[in-house]
Amino acid sequence: KDIVDYVHRNKHLVYQADLEQAIRTILHNEVSKVNEIKGEQLLALQRFLTVLQRYNPLGTNGRQLVSQLKDYVVQFNQALKGADFEQELKRLEAKLGSIYSSRHFVGCIGSSPSKRGYSCSLWTLFHFMSVQAAGNEHSQDPLEVLQAMHGYIKNFFGCTDCAEHFQAMAARRKIWSVPTKDEAVLWLWAAHNEVNQRLAGDATEDAEFPKKQFPSAESCAQCHHGTASAANSEYNWNMEAVLSFLKNIHNPQFVSRYGLQ
Ligand code: FAD
Repeated sequence: KDIVDYVHRNKHLVYQADLEQAIRTILHNEVSKVNEIKGEQLLALQRFLTVLQRYNPLGTNGRQLVSQLKDYVVQFNQALKGADFEQELKRLEAKLGSIYSSRHFVGCIGSSPSKRGYSCSLWTLFHFMSVQAAGNEHSQDPLEVLQAMHGYIKNFFGCTDCAEHFQAMAARRKIWSVPTKDEAVLWLWAAHNEVNQRLAGDATEDAEFPKKQFPSAESCAQCHHGTASAANSEYNWNMEAVLSFLKNIHNPQFVSRYGLQ
């Protein structure tokens, strides 16, 4: 209850706890559960871990973990068993010591266990990484994070309907033609808003956290040139302001450590 109240009062924040829960769930509950990871799926895992290693929100031990896991996974060029991945993951976690500073969601907390949680944190992690990539002068590839996300969602995300919707949307929105890293941040933002719009009022929506276009005028007045009229759900966004808002909330300095142990 305290967490929910806090999150309602601080809607614009990105929480470290959610980023960590996303990574833990990806590694333990999705990748580890695949029987045999091979072909395109193996390549997708290698790409995902490469990007996660670059833009990893975890602390020192967590950065070691992802870097060593990536080194382990890139040795395979044919197939890797999920059970072997899990064994290596657990071995590294035991060797490196404390990795995660939270065991629960904060910004992604749902009003019941079936609502929000992991899928919310997964969006959060990919937005976070797209913003870190945009600020990284050593990386010039605008598709680095979007490609890793596309591959991860297609090959590992447990919600297969979501994965299919996402791939169809990605093709329609021409994901492979995104020209710059800033445009990649905005591509993901706009794609996520399209999903929010489609799911508003859906049975999966958490009534405590209704789906709205993001960010609200309350969180970012300058992001909106004007308010959408009731008759016309088109928003009049100020893209420059949206981009700086996204960069700001995902700046590691401003990621909230609320609710960590
Ligand atoms: P989420 O939509 O999960 O958003 C998480 C957080 O991100 C929000 O709390 C907010 O702080 C922030 N945010 C919201 N919008 C934006 C934005 N535009 N830009 C940046 N930050 C934003 N569910 C389905 O039922 N059907 C689907 O087809 C489906 N497809 C999905 C595809 C993908 C790739 C993913 C990751 C999830 C999908 N889901 C789908 C799940 C769904 O999108 C939500 O994650 C889930 O319903 C929980 O919603 P939420 O209210 O916690 O907010």
